[in-house]
Amino acid sequence: MAQILDGQALAAEIYGELQREVQSLRGRHGRVPGLRVVAVGEEPASYVYARNQERHCRELGIDFDTVRLPREVEQGRLLETLEELNADPAVDGILLFAPLPPQLDQQEAVRTIDPGKDVEGLHPVNLGNLLFERSHFTPCTPGGVITLLKRHRIPLEGRRVVIVGHSPVVGKPAVLLFLAEHATATCCHQWTTDLGRHTREADVLMVAVGKPGLITADMVRPGAVVVDVGITRVEGKLVGDVDFAGVSEVAGWITPVPGGVGPMTVCTLLSNTVEAARRHARQAAARAS
Ligand code: NAP
Repeated sequence: MAQILDGQALAAEIYGELQREVQSLRGRHGRVPGLRVVAVGEEPASYVYARNQERHCRELGIDFDTVRLPREVEQGRLLETLEELNADPAVDGILLFAPLPPQLDQQEAVRTIDPGKDVEGLHPVNLGNLLFERSHFTPCTPGGVITLLKRHRIPLEGRRVVIVGHSPVVGKPAVLLFLAEHATATCCHQWTTDLGRHTREADVLMVAVGKPGLITADMVRPGAVVVDVGITRVEGKLVGDVDFAGVSEVAGWITPVPGGVGPMTVCTLLSNTVEAARRHARQAAARAS
């Protein structure tokens, strides 16, 4: 029976470390990290996500606020809002909720965020710098997965990692992050033929698709580490892409849904926010000297 990779418990441990860092930033530099979420329209899922982040921020001592824009807002107003946040010295991190309504150009909006405040790590400058292992911020979901594995002392060097799903926010940056850990990374997608042939090769299998039940026990190598990123609401319950009951009979380690990758994503976002505040405090101190 697989051991559980408990993202909830690890995130709680990391929040303890972050809380101490926030206190130290306040003591040494008089700086309170600031995170702003920009939300367009009345998307209920994003409200739940924002409330969750707000609660963690309050506990950590991060100054959190949501900037709400009406659903019909024009691109120019959205960009102005982001520019105002870029210029605000009290703001260390900016998060833009996706998806945006159809009249808005999401790529242009993300490009408008100052890369030094892009705590989601999704600005093209930060994604590009991942190639050189010099990004300001790690993209939150794949970064959270790497932290989850490393903190459980799961070796990655020389291991075969198979990632299913190649979105620009999860699958593709995950390939680069695993390569940086000296793993051999393969990325599968909709056009991959015989998916099981690839997944059965994996020492570490990471699945980020959004199709419940996609990965079954016969697609997993005995003893493999299985990380389920997928989240789909089915009959009111959140489920992943992996058949948890079947696969946990075969795998060595497995993440639950919920309680696996999700908490690590939020934790990485807040960790990036504290890192941004640390950098801004250093820059302010250098300017003052
Ligand atoms: P996305 O942009 O829709 O990407 C899904 C990927 O899956 C695409 O690359 C797609 O390939 C691939 N795919 C679709 N059907 C496939 C199949 N049958 N076999 C292999 N690959 C297939 O989604 P995303 O933003 O990456 O998110 C993926 C899932 O993770 C969703 O359930 C989302 O809710 C969840 N998620 C969770 C967290 C978290 O914190 N836990 C964070 C982000 C996302 P093609 O492009 O070739 O079609």
